[in-house]
Amino acid sequence: IVVALKANFLIVEIDHKNFKDYSFDEFNGKIRLLCIRRSKLNYQGLFIDVGDIVGVESIDYKNKRAVVSDVEPRQSFLKRPAVANVTLVSICISADEPLFDMEQTSRFLLTAECANIEPLIILTKIDLITKNDLILYINKFKSWGYDCIPVSIHNSQGIDSLIERLRKTKLTVLAGPSGVGKTSLINHLIPTVSLPTSSVSKKLKRGTHTTRHVELFAIGNGSLLADTPGFNRPEIVCEPSDFAFLFPEFRTQLSNSQCKFRNCLHRDEPGCVIDKDLERYPFYRENLEEMINSPLPYQAG
Ligand code: GDP
Repeated sequence: IVVALKANFLIVEIDHKNFKDYSFDEFNGKIRLLCIRRSKLNYQGLFIDVGDIVGVESIDYKNKRAVVSDVEPRQSFLKRPAVANVTLVSICISADEPLFDMEQTSRFLLTAECANIEPLIILTKIDLITKNDLILYINKFKSWGYDCIPVSIHNSQGIDSLIERLRKTKLTVLAGPSGVGKTSLINHLIPTVSLPTSSVSKKLKRGTHTTRHVELFAIGNGSLLADTPGFNRPEIVCEPSDFAFLFPEFRTQLSNSQCKFRNCLHRDEPGCVIDKDLERYPFYRENLEEMINSPLPYQAG
């Protein structure tokens, strides 16, 4: 797997358990090789990004160098930052400061659903709310069809559960609005990186972000975490007829029973099985109308 891009080189992590002659003990049985691309890859116009699974040849174990000769088709792709084969988008939502925003949270979730990547909600800064409010949040997300992991870096609550969850998936990127604590969390989870954080008010004033290359870090059990907060501007590109399937709570209803009309958009059609009293229905409806009235492909956010 490509774990970083450095100038014209690719840093590729490989399993070295088959090469007993060399005793590398870094990265839990993995070694990182500095690689160049085989020129045919350039001719074929194949882009390689962090997260791509590649084939390497001409391995020089002594100097930790090799040549990338192949790249596998991607299972998923996240555009900003460009990371291939992401298996989990962890969406950080702050319990307070900044205030919870249902529509914004939904746009992040929809962006992950749209890219066909599993989303996980991380509820941050729970030291700022009461136990009762925490239960309300958990129940809210449950009614949307999502689990959430509540955390606080101030008292380390939930951090162990989060690490345990992240170790069950291959490659995680953290996403979410500015100021919710993504950078703080990355610094907490990957002690070797130290990204600058700043207060919410400073962030809102600044509004600009320095972009840099992503690097993937081992977090145990063969799992990797991108050291850069992921997209913080959601992007949903979707056909109106597919839109309801991006909401787990509607998906469940549609898999349990069928609407009368096959092309039902779940507006006011007779025989529609979607429960219009669900919390996110008005949000669905509003975005659907925009989608119908705008030229395709529709982009929300
Ligand atoms: P990002 O924009 O999502 O990367 O947010 P940062 O990590 O830069 O954090 C924004 C602000 O929230 C900083 O002032 C952090 O100290 C603060 N913060 C982060 N995590 C927590 C937390 O668990 N509890 C509290 N009370 N504040 C936090």
